[in-house]
Amino acid sequence: MKCIHCENEMKKVNFLVFGGFQIESKTNSIFETPERSSVEVYVCNKCGYVELKATDYKKF
Ligand SMILES: [Zn+2]
Repeated sequence: MKCIHCENEMKKVNFLVFGGFQIESKTNSIFETPERSSVEVYVCNKCGYVELKATDYKKF
């Protein structure tokens, strides 16, 4: 993945949150099951920009 600021190749890194880091869709009622996805984290080692990418983004 290229950095959007300086076009350097970004490195995939781990997010240090216990149990991992996920996103979840908002639902209108408690009977709906929200969609969830893990999130990949990339850092640019030239300018420090951090980018997040959902692994299962097509569900949303
Ligand atoms: Zn950069």
